[in-house]
Amino acid sequence: MQLDPNLFVASQRTAIAGSAWPTDAPHAFHLLAKPSGSTCNIDCSYCFFLSKEALYPDQRQHMSDGTLETYIRQLLESHQAPKVQVAWQGGEPTLMQLAFFQRAVELVERHRRPGQIVEHSIQTNGTLLDDDWCRFFKQHRFLVGLSVDGPRQLHDHYRVDRLGRGTFSRVLQGWRHLRQHGVEFNILCTVHAANQQHGRAVYRFLRDELDARWIQFIPIVERIDTRVMSTDDQDQHLPSTKTRPLYTQSGNLVTRRSVDPAQYGQFLVDVFEEWVRNDVGRVFVQQFDVALEACFGRHLLCVHAPECGYGPALEYNGDLYCCDHYVEPNYLLGNIPIHRT
Ligand code: SF4
Repeated sequence: MQLDPNLFVASQRTAIAGSAWPTDAPHAFHLLAKPSGSTCNIDCSYCFFLSKEALYPDQRQHMSDGTLETYIRQLLESHQAPKVQVAWQGGEPTLMQLAFFQRAVELVERHRRPGQIVEHSIQTNGTLLDDDWCRFFKQHRFLVGLSVDGPRQLHDHYRVDRLGRGTFSRVLQGWRHLRQHGVEFNILCTVHAANQQHGRAVYRFLRDELDARWIQFIPIVERIDTRVMSTDDQDQHLPSTKTRPLYTQSGNLVTRRSVDPAQYGQFLVDVFEEWVRNDVGRVFVQQFDVALEACFGRHLLCVHAPECGYGPALEYNGDLYCCDHYVEPNYLLGNIPIHRT
């Protein structure tokens, strides 16, 4: 559900000669496409994206072949930089089945300009990965982002299925498949009330047990107001029959699942102290990389940049939003099959 900053190329400025695009158009951007919309096979307690189903009630959230081809074609056309990232996310994108992604790769090859370099990535909870998926990822050099919140007890606190059961074992099974096939992967680890005091243990687990070499830590900050507080501020899993209110970036309060600001800082300090003593040049932690880059005037992550807007999100039906974190009515830009962007 989050941007992979390793792939974020907004600052990439090598233009293709002869382009007729407006001079202020970005040469590259990082779009997150959601082929299965907000649909997911699990039910993380802190997931802000599951509630987005309220935007499209009674619709099967499934990207059509026509929307897929329009998206791929427009994505490739609108990049002036030679390198293009095709990034899939959800919900859980592997619910789309392998044939969808085989088709996506085929369309990339059909619409790619000569000299255009395309890199594929997918963010997944890992629970559906098997040999077929991993063979495909390896063949097409996908970078797979795997969501893991730390050792079993910490991971299973919020990352649960619809029955409230922890998903750690199923995620580890997916990770084993990735390893067996030599698929390149990184770890996306959210920081929240349950693991915020365990920065060093979480980092060591990801480094030593999962052999992670690329790690990003994402703070869970769920904004709410008093109206939804009673229904959405639960530390424990609620039955899946409960309807989640549409999550929007509003409200002056946060849920109790959210990370404490000072504790988030301490979490990163604890990770840094372990990393800087042992792992410089061997393990890459996104927060440290982007902080260093910012010192040299390069901003690879939107929250560090002078302005945002280079990370739009595309819903399954072609609706384009400003940002993955702002998939809500006020930030809808248009629909790609109707309005060429
Ligand atoms: S894996 Fe968890 S966080 Fe990601 S979309 Fe599914 S429920 Fe949400």
